[in-house]
Amino acid sequence: MPSYDAIIIGTGQAGSPLAGRLAGAGQKVAIVERNLFGGTCVNTGCTPTKTLVASAKAAQMARRAAEFGVVLDGPVKIDMKKVKARADAVSGASRDGIGKWLDGMANCTVYRGHARFLDRRSVRVGDEVLSADRIFINVGGRAILPEIPGLAGVPHLTNSTIMDLDVVPDHLLIIGGSYVGLEFAQIYRRFGARVTVFEAGPRLIRREDEDISRAVSDILTAEGIDIVVDAAGLAVGRGTNGAGGIAVSHDGPNGLKAVFGSHLLVAAGRRPNTDDLDAEKAGIALDAHGTIIVDDALRTNVDGIWALGDCNGRGAFTHTAYNDFEIVAANLLDNDPRRVSDRIPVYALYVDPPLGRVGLTETDAKKTGRRVAVSTRPMSRVNRAIEKGETQGFMKIVADADSGEILGAALLGTGCDEVVHALIDVMYAKRPYQQVRRGVHIHPTVSELLPTMLGDFRPS
Ligand SMILES: Cc1cc2nc3c(=O)[nH]c(=O)nc-3n(C[C@H](O)[C@H](O)[C@H](O)COP(=O)(O)OP(=O)(O)OC[C@H]3O[C@@H](n4cnc5c(N)ncnc54)[C@H](O)[C@@H]3O)c2cc1C
Repeated sequence: MPSYDAIIIGTGQAGSPLAGRLAGAGQKVAIVERNLFGGTCVNTGCTPTKTLVASAKAAQMARRAAEFGVVLDGPVKIDMKKVKARADAVSGASRDGIGKWLDGMANCTVYRGHARFLDRRSVRVGDEVLSADRIFINVGGRAILPEIPGLAGVPHLTNSTIMDLDVVPDHLLIIGGSYVGLEFAQIYRRFGARVTVFEAGPRLIRREDEDISRAVSDILTAEGIDIVVDAAGLAVGRGTNGAGGIAVSHDGPNGLKAVFGSHLLVAAGRRPNTDDLDAEKAGIALDAHGTIIVDDALRTNVDGIWALGDCNGRGAFTHTAYNDFEIVAANLLDNDPRRVSDRIPVYALYVDPPLGRVGLTETDAKKTGRRVAVSTRPMSRVNRAIEKGETQGFMKIVADADSGEILGAALLGTGCDEVVHALIDVMYAKRPYQQVRRGVHIHPTVSELLPTMLGDFRPS
């Protein structure tokens, strides 16, 4: 039985860098991957979707070219095979880089196969049994297929399989009006598909403030995306009216309503890949959703076993998975007691214009009982946005009216996935907004309005 100092299960956003740190520190490391090096982000998540977002933006700007005095002859056409080839090339380069790095890493052995726990110190991979005193789980997650009547009987796509599409659907039906669903909705609408989004809740991206949710909905609707909220009683079947292959039906005000489409994407949430890990043989505690329960230093209930990334439920992003790696490495190798609770929630929604988010929503800030102040500004009053012809959206900053602490921000507008970092850094520095209010920013940028907004708070 090969014995190691550390076994890492999964080569996602935490596992691979952790292998690098541990092996670099002279430890004997085994890393196991059952599918593609780099995991979700590189192969079916951030990287390929953001290349598609870039292609969709190019299509949109080509359509708008005349507004900018640029003459393009003829209608915009999408070569979906090229779009896909570009996404595949960017993902492939990243995946190959990780694979080569791990394969060539001193002190590290790569196992290709599915790892399952045998007990708290050993895992089986194919015919091999590996053992180690420390085991790090970085198995990520996958799309949930909800219990929707008829779903099993019709062809459907997930965020993984939609990456294989090299044609533009005639009409893409999307179940799920949150981050994954909305990014694909706008991408394929801009590629020329008809798109209908079905959201069971009363509004899109429910965890955001209502005004942000409404603004995102307005942006997507203005591009011709059909959005059905409060879509109760969802069912799926074969299309029968000749308009397409798939029908999604839901309860409407006047009875059952059906929408017919050519393709169906299910984007209704994700679940951790812990159902086929035999974690119970090691005595690892999971919650009802299959999430591995960890403490603030990402230790499971079993001594010597850690869980990092999406599978621990403490984040659902590449940057949180990578930060998990940093926390574990700091504790084990640097005598630096870093903690998950030091992390401020940050993320972006990559519709165009993007939503950059940090910290609390206005709604959640008010629930803390503090005296909350907000500052908002429409993008139509941002010079750079006007110059770029991208004035959709608005920015909102939320602060504690008494201490001046910035509690959160939702910046929906051109460049806002980058602009938000100015606020993230102030929040990490734990500085009141008054201290950065007089900062002079570069003109013309979107960021130059942040000091103005910080001088313009009103009670929430
Ligand atoms: C469509 C989409 C778009 C996204 N866009 C963004 C974005 O723009 N920004 C962002 O920050 N996040 C984004 N995310 C989320 C991001 O991709 C994930 O949070 C991130 O990849 C999580 O990394 P991880 O290390 O936890 O797991 P993963 O990257 O999923 O890696 C887990 C690895 O473990 C392997 N594995 C699983 N079980 C086993 C086993 N038993 N044995 C061996 N190997 C196993 C898997 O094959 C996989 O390679 C997106 C996700 C999706 C679905």
